[in-house]
Amino acid sequence: MPALSVRQLRKTYRNGFEALKGVDLSVDEGDFFALLGPNGAGKSTLIGILASLVTKTSGEVKVFGHDLDREPEAVKACLGLVPQEFNFNIFLPVIEVVLNQAGYYGIPRGEALERAEFYLRKLELWDRRQTEMRQLSGGLKRRLMIARGLIHGPRLLILDEPTAGVDIEIRRGMWDFLRELNEQGTTIILTTHYLEEAENLCRHIAIINRGQVAEREGMTRLLGRLEAETFVLNLQHPLSATPDLPGFPSLLLDDQTLEVELSRGQSVNSLFAALSRRGIEVASLRNKQNRLERLFLETVERRGEDRG
Ligand code: ADP
Ligand code: MG
Repeated sequence: MPALSVRQLRKTYRNGFEALKGVDLSVDEGDFFALLGPNGAGKSTLIGILASLVTKTSGEVKVFGHDLDREPEAVKACLGLVPQEFNFNIFLPVIEVVLNQAGYYGIPRGEALERAEFYLRKLELWDRRQTEMRQLSGGLKRRLMIARGLIHGPRLLILDEPTAGVDIEIRRGMWDFLRELNEQGTTIILTTHYLEEAENLCRHIAIINRGQVAEREGMTRLLGRLEAETFVLNLQHPLSATPDLPGFPSLLLDDQTLEVELSRGQSVNSLFAALSRRGIEVASLRNKQNRLERLFLETVERRGEDRG
């Protein structure tokens, strides 16, 4: 049974804007899944629907087999949410934020305290438990939201841009924490536009753009497909046309800039050999883009073209 199954999900906001245009998505139990997409793609809308914060227009949502329309309480019980926007009373001390949430799920006080201590220690917030929210940095607030999202022991944790605005050190700490949580059995879905984050953490990935899922693949397969790397070469001498380099798809950007694609197993040396056979000298070379970033842009562009 999948942890999450979404079929033909649509959302039209009251102003007529169609934020989700028939999204199909399935996430297996135990997966670490990234929902990757640019701003405005519909990520938060999708997550809002799962967490019953946004009402869907049509379509079906199931969480561990529980239908969102028929068993909203069961869905609520197995789903933990870390929203994109901070949403707590800024005058509350850290510990109260977590305990209030436990109360909301009907967890008895004693057990709530135990769990709160466990997660606050894990997320290095225990020493700050009496600190008021408004005195916490962005990174600490983000970590507190994770502790709060976990207090009722959800089987599926959904994080909406968990590391937006979080500095790199804290971000890596959060990654370690999430990885460990996933290894212990919690299914995790996160949205991000940090490609590095998806690449580092996730086993599967879906790319969402303009309310539609554009790609859905295993990270390994995706990276395999991306094994082709594009290099940008600055040439010593100008060329008038794209040279014929057997085995190396290339494109002359301007008379002294040549873009060349290397696929898996092709070495830069073999490219240089092919170039020298054509009498082409290279002044410098650089990698065009991060691999995932490239795929992301290609997908977005392709979708854009499809839609005219
Ligand atoms: P993402 O999280 O991927 O950045 P969102 O789901 O927040 O995207 O937004 C998707 C689109 O829906 C955006 O164009 C946004 O402006 C629009 N949108 C979000 N909330 C509302 C709303 N309450 N009313 C109308 N449009 C909205
Ligand atoms: Mg969002």
